[in-house]
Amino acid sequence: MQQHAGPPHSIGRCPICEAGLCGVRICTGDDPLSQQPTGGFILCDECEALWLEPNTASEHSYVDPENPSCPICRGALWSTSRWALQDDIKTLGWSGAVDPDLDITPGQV
Ligand SMILES: [Zn+2]
Ligand SMILES: [Zn+2]
Repeated sequence: MQQHAGPPHSIGRCPICEAGLCGVRICTGDDPLSQQPTGGFILCDECEALWLEPNTASEHSYVDPENPSCPICRGALWSTSRWALQDDIKTLGWSGAVDPDLDITPGQV
């Protein structure tokens, strides 16, 4: 599991902790037979603030550390969502929000 690896695509630095990256995650739902992306959200990889739209100026909430759940399907956060890849972001229509300077290419780190 690479669940705590950094987000490959981010929309910016976190305005809350000023240390993390606001990575794009995509919810794949909790049905293992249908890995259909159902929605996206933004998660800071440092303080776990989350946003439901690709805009960190919008209202945020936090992942519940006791019971981390996906804001889209309410399933377990780390098993029903993953960091979004380029194609996922295209599907979400969020490409314009991503800052390519913050992209992390696997194997490059
Ligand atoms: Zn989910
Ligand atoms: Zn943060």
